[in-house]
Amino acid sequence: MPAGKDIGASGKTGPAKQNPDWEGIVGSLKKWRRDLQKGETAAPSVSTVAERYKKDPWAVLVSTILSLRTKDEVTLRTSRALLAKAPDPGAMLALDEDAIAALAYPAGFYRTKAANLKKIAAIVLEKYQGRVPSDLEALLELPGVGRKTANLVITEAYNKDGICVDVHVHRISNRTGWLSSRTPEETEMILRRILPRKYWKSINPLLVLYGQNLCRPVSPFCSRCIITRHCGRISVDTSR
Ligand code: SF4
Repeated sequence: MPAGKDIGASGKTGPAKQNPDWEGIVGSLKKWRRDLQKGETAAPSVSTVAERYKKDPWAVLVSTILSLRTKDEVTLRTSRALLAKAPDPGAMLALDEDAIAALAYPAGFYRTKAANLKKIAAIVLEKYQGRVPSDLEALLELPGVGRKTANLVITEAYNKDGICVDVHVHRISNRTGWLSSRTPEETEMILRRILPRKYWKSINPLLVLYGQNLCRPVSPFCSRCIITRHCGRISVDTSR
């Protein structure tokens, strides 16, 4: 695909005419991640929390909520602090909202998150016998839980198929020209149609890591990119 092409200008949303070579893309990204991990730990914060708490759904839900609009290192730190005091919904409900907010600080919107976490703890205890639901629709009914959070909980904690679309997945999917969409929700729905199911769970951690390291929001490192042949560089005006 020619560099700098602006398919978004047509205003049309949907998948690209030609389905991307997903096997080549996912294979290249996995190889890149293996090489990166030889140097240091390289996993998105929620995946790290999921590993640390043995995929405990409550820990995954709490850390996913904390991670929204928050840097990875802050998510890790605040998740550890909050889960030490509130390892289950009952313990969270016993904390007052100010205490939750203090433990969540400096995560973005920590006061709103504290209020939502307390409400979620009450609902999970009352409606689900203290167990975080494993169903996407039930998760979406919890306060402050959107599609990104719900998908991350079902994939990371319950090992179910889901596609978590965050800013990185949305940006890279559009930039490469694999699809054209206006919102992360649209991106998720298109990916659900065009991405083979076997890649649903892996696409988020791979693209998050790629977006943090190479396909950065401003001036991506195209000269070091390992998926250039799969990328149309849509609306990429400046790169390194
Ligand atoms: S780094 Fe550049 S070439 Fe690679 S996916 Fe991003 S925009 Fe495309």
